[in-house]
Amino acid sequence: MNQFMERAVQLALNNVEEGGQPFGAVLVKDGKIVAEGVNELHKQFDVSGHAELLAIRRAQMELQTNDLSGYIMYASGEPCPMCLTAMYFAGIKEAYFCQSVEDAVAVGLGKSKLIYEDLKKDKQDRQLLMVQMKLTGNVRNPMKIWAEKQ
Ligand SMILES: [Zn+2]
Repeated sequence: MNQFMERAVQLALNNVEEGGQPFGAVLVKDGKIVAEGVNELHKQFDVSGHAELLAIRRAQMELQTNDLSGYIMYASGEPCPMCLTAMYFAGIKEAYFCQSVEDAVAVGLGKSKLIYEDLKKDKQDRQLLMVQMKLTGNVRNPMKIWAEKQ
């Protein structure tokens, strides 16, 4: 464990003290912490209020960019699929976690593992029904219009 992971775990511990879930994250660039986050589901109704996602959001607001390539994520808990995806979109290519999704399952926080397993299945076998409805009639094609503007 290095100083950044120690900070992420300390944030998780602090969050538990405040009645929240045991997750903290710090985003690092060039050996410096750029942004931090903790799980804020106990503070507001927002399922995207995860530690890593909030750290990413704060860094992007602060730096006024969506591109966080070259940044490193340290998360006290293994990132869920939502936060992992946010890291992909942000261009983050390196992440470290302390406690695994299996550790989370062991204390009753099993959603991430469930979703990871669901994503391995074919679309039609997943828990979330997702069905394509194609463009019909005179509905204009937003992707085609976007492509023509490029
Ligand atoms: Zn997450």
